[in-house]
This record gives sequence, structure tokens and C-alpha cells, in this order.
Amino acid sequence: MKFGDLSIYLSRLESTTKRLEMFDILSEAFSKVDKNEIGKAVYFIQGEPAPSFYGIQIGMADKIVEKAISMAYVEGIEKVKTSSKKIGDLGEVAEKLDKQKSYSNLTITAVYDSILKLSKMTGEGSTEEKINELAECLKKVAPLEAKYIVRFVLGKLRLGIGNATIMEALSKAKTNDRKFKPELEKAFNLCSDLGYVAELFYSKGEEVIKRFQVEVMRPIRPALAERLNTPRKILEKLGRCALDQKFDGFRAQVHKEGDKVKVFSRNLEDITSFMPEIVEAVRRLSEKTIIFDSEALSYDEDTGTLYPFQVTIHRKRKHDIEEASQKFPLRLFVFDVMFLNGKSLIDEPYTARRETVERIFKDSGSVISPSKIIITDKEDDFIRFFDETISSGLEGVVAKRLSSGYSAGARNFNWIKIKRSYKSKLNDTIDVVILGYFRGRGSRARFGIGAILAGVYDERTDTFKTITKVGSGFSEDQLKQMKSALDSVKVDHKPARVDSMIEPDFWVQPEYVITVKADEITNSPIHTAGMENGVGYALRFPRAVSFIRADKNADDANTVKEIKEMFKQQKTVKI
Ligand code: ATP
Repeated sequence: MKFGDLSIYLSRLESTTKRLEMFDILSEAFSKVDKNEIGKAVYFIQGEPAPSFYGIQIGMADKIVEKAISMAYVEGIEKVKTSSKKIGDLGEVAEKLDKQKSYSNLTITAVYDSILKLSKMTGEGSTEEKINELAECLKKVAPLEAKYIVRFVLGKLRLGIGNATIMEALSKAKTNDRKFKPELEKAFNLCSDLGYVAELFYSKGEEVIKRFQVEVMRPIRPALAERLNTPRKILEKLGRCALDQKFDGFRAQVHKEGDKVKVFSRNLEDITSFMPEIVEAVRRLSEKTIIFDSEALSYDEDTGTLYPFQVTIHRKRKHDIEEASQKFPLRLFVFDVMFLNGKSLIDEPYTARRETVERIFKDSGSVISPSKIIITDKEDDFIRFFDETISSGLEGVVAKRLSSGYSAGARNFNWIKIKRSYKSKLNDTIDVVILGYFRGRGSRARFGIGAILAGVYDERTDTFKTITKVGSGFSEDQLKQMKSALDSVKVDHKPARVDSMIEPDFWVQPEYVITVKADEITNSPIHTAGMENGVGYALRFPRAVSFIRADKNADDANTVKEIKEMFKQQKTVKI
């Protein structure tokens, strides 16, 4: 497909405010893309040259792109800068300056390759090289193409189309039916690379997707836990089950193939370079290839006590990782294994996977060890283990169904978490997606932001529904940072995937997640989360307990289904 044609589709997708229309445009576009280009087309739709775990960075900030635009259209740099300031979008600046009358002959592949080339230019003189390469590309293309190329290069081609919608559209485009989506989703959950899955689907067909297996060095989308608020309910649901200590660190999915080791975070960023001591310990394992799931924590070597989450995460921001790894060495607690020496264990029952965890990690040294579990069907044992776990400073327990496989990318009752706060009315914090913000009033007027409109994810429709307005819990500094983060994803109309009865002063692309605590979930006539017959759900007295979460994407926020469950559960708790 010509990149010009894709640009027209991008423009139509950008201007629609209706999700169904978005789906129709997308499946029409995908039906016209060739099998060799479908992966790249998916990346353009996602707005990233590849999933972030590949670590491909184009590395061009506004200033450099301004120079490329100035060079391509023989326009003074000052004029480019002024228009950029005025319009606030370099994509549009390029569109306005570009005088080409007709669309270029460049294919999606040609444009993609030229952009990928930028990411490979590093070291001395690379800035000039990048400016030349981008300018050459811009010279050849029509205004609309230029707009999207510039936005893509800057990481600002955000159309806010969810992966679920992309998969449904791929299924419709290739088979004329949406029904193949679950198979695509299964493959995506095993490799986290939708472009790769799309390309296999188009070039090798349905059977290959159905047989798709885990691949070492491509992260598996993590299995997630449901919640219940009493040991009894959990035992009623699971019967005899494993109780696994729940650590409050950060999730680390580890891949090893020979000497090569990679560690992925909960939202599948490559975090290998942050934890040299872990990489070294993993290399020492005798297994040739392995993928396992674990929680990483820092601990005090002298006393053996675990540091809280804030200390653990701190090193991510530290420049001197070596120093941090000496001062706050990390430990890994392994709770699952998904692949071993050429064989996927995803479909093996929990008991078999757990035996493998014990066998491999029992004596693997002090850095990596298995999490501690018990297996029981007795409420007394459950309560005792839970209390012991809590008194040793941990967060709670994750109960695991003995017969279940590893549920990649799914939150279901194969894993059920119960935290130490389960006796309070609303026993958990809630992760919400920021959908818009309100201007500050009174003392907050000077920050330009006073509160945010936030929502939860509705898996059924792949949309975001509002649940609350949050104004408290942010420091002044955070408010300032929040405004600048949100301004970078501001849009001029309600995004198509947002369902809201409330109109904030500014809409933003649903990208950022924050964690909030609330007193209670209540019914509400104005919030659309779970709305039926005019009644939805809202949070009472919400306050932020985190800043923007680096480890969560919008689709990782809590879901409408979970809110309904939490609402039901809080009614059954006696305080
Ligand atoms: P939370 O805020 O409760 O961690 P979450 O949305 O990040 O929620 P959940 O699926 O709700 O993730 O809870 C599971 C999380 O708990 C995992 O992502 C993992 O990081 C952590 N965890 C700690 N110990 C364990 C364990 N033994 N088994 C499974 N997950 C564990």
C-alpha cells in the first residue's frame, strides 16, 4: 500500500469520534494492505516503530525535527519555530509548509524503513545524519503524509486505538468475520507483538496462529489476579489451592537463552539494564533456556529485611545503577515458570509448573529463590498463613488454582489476591486512566490544572468509562508535572474510545494511569462506568496515591467488571 493511502486512513481515523466507525475504517484499511506490510501498518496505527521492549528509539526531539522541516521545505528555522509554538504540533507545521501537490510513490515499507534507519544512527555526527534523512523523506511526500511521518518520528502519532479493536479489525479484514479475534489475542498474549502476529496471520494463515507458541526473548503478557475479600470465599471458589506470598515489589519476567538474559517489567518494558546483579545470577542457572515470572525486591543484607516498594523502584531513576545494586541489592522471588529448555509450560497445570519452580530455584543461591507457598483446603490454615505472611511485612496472598495453566494476558479466578487491608470497606486501591482535566480554580488557578477526569477500562467494548474526578493527593510539584504530561497528549475532541457524560475543560488521549484510594464505590447517575438504566459507579472521596504509573498502560487500569465485583464485595463486608 502506498503511504499516501495509509495517511488518508489515518486522517479518517483521527477525525472520527465513534468507535464503530473507527472499526469500519480500520478493517477497510487492513483489507487493502499487503501481507508483507501489515505488521508495519499495525505499528503505524499503534504509533510506535515496534513494541517498546525491542528498545528501538528514533531519538529525535522537537528541535531536531524542526531543523529537518526547515531543510526539507527551505524555510527559515525561526519561522518553523514560531509556527510550532503557535500551532503546538510539528506534524501540522510540516503539513502547512509542504507544497507537493500529489501523493508520493513511497510504500508503507519505504517510509517505515527510512524511519527505522533514524533509530540506527547513533554516535558522533548522527544528529546531522538524522536531519538529512528525515528531510529527504519529507521532500518526497505530500502534506498529509508529512504530517503523520513527523508525528510518528516524534512519538506523537497517537490515535488511541486499542489492541482489541486492532485485532478485531485484522480478523474482519482477513477472514471477513470478527470471529478469529480470540485466536489472534491468544497469540498476542504469548508474544506481545501485534505487528508480528499480524504479519504471521497474513502470510502464514489461521492454522499457524492457532498453533502459535511462546518464544524466548519475546515477553509473555502477564497473568493477573482477581480479588475476593475472604479466605472462605476463595476456598469456595478454588477448593484445595496453593497460597503464594504476595510481595509488594515490581514484577520481573525473566528470559534466559544461554548467556543472553532479558528482564521485562509488568508492562513489558525491557528493564534488563537496571538490574545487573539479577542478570548475573540468572546466567549462573544451569538451565539453557527458561522463562519465569517473579517479583523483584530490594533487601537489607545485614538484617535480611525487605525494603518497601518505594525504595525498590527508586533505582529505576538512579543514574548509577551499579551503586544502587550494591546498596540495595535486589532479590527475585520466583512464583511461576512458563518455558523450559525448548518446551512451553503455559498449558501445564499449576502443580507441575510449581514443581519445576521448586526444582530449579530451591538451591539457586541467595539472589533468586522460590516464593513460599502452602497447599490447603482448610480455612484455618489459610488464615494462619495469611497472618504469618502479613506479619512478616508482605502485602497479602495470591491463591492459585492447582489445575490451571498460565493465563497469559488475562485476569481471571485462576489467581485470586487477598491483601492485608481486606477487612476495610473498599479493600484495594484502584488504577484509573486519565481522560481529561479541569482548569484549576482558586489557589490552583496558577497551575492550570485543578482536577482530572478519570475512568476505568471496559473490556467488552474496548472503551474507557468515567468513574471519578480526582483533585486531591497531588503535591504542587506533581500538579505542574501532571499538566505538562497531559498537555503532551491533549486532543481537541473527546477521543472515540471514551464514553463520558462529563465534559472536562481539556480531553487527553487515554494513556496515563494513576492509582487512587477511595472510601467507597457508590452508585452514580453521572459516571458511565458500569452504567445500566441511568445508574453507573463512582468513587467516593478519591485521592491519588501515586503519580503517573510508569509500569501501567491504559489497558492495565482496573476494569468495569472489577469495579462491579468490588462494589458487590464491599457490601458483604461487616466493619
Ligand atoms: P496490585 O496493585 O494488587 O499489585 P496489579 O494490577 O499490579 O495489582 P494484580 O494482578 O492485581 O496486579 O496482582 C498481581 C500482582 O502481584 C502481580 O502483577 C505481581 O507483580 C504481584 N505479585 C507479588 N507476588 C506474587 C505472587 N506470589 N504471585 C503472583 N503475583 C504476585
